[in-house]
Amino acid sequence: MKKTRKLIRPAYVKEVLESITCDLCPATTTDPENWVIEKGLYHRDEVIVQGKRGDVYPESGYLQWVILDLCPTCFRDKLIPWFHSLGGQPRTEEMDF
Ligand SMILES: [Zn+2]
Repeated sequence: MKKTRKLIRPAYVKEVLESITCDLCPATTTDPENWVIEKGLYHRDEVIVQGKRGDVYPESGYLQWVILDLCPTCFRDKLIPWFHSLGGQPRTEEMDF
């Protein structure tokens, strides 16, 4: 008797974002472009703090990112005051579209 079983092999495995938790407080988001979701669908409250380092050649290269996951509150209330305390002056830009 021939005995068989179904072997399911997914065509691919996709990694999707479940959530991001702030490195400095328990704030969590499922939408990194809008940490404060209760302000509405069209509100944007995004924080990007990262540094890239490596070598880039015409045909290849290697870069490493160091990324800080910060919520907008910790960015405003902790990172910016710390930056000022070291003598730094953050740049402000605006976009109107
Ligand atoms: Zn935070």
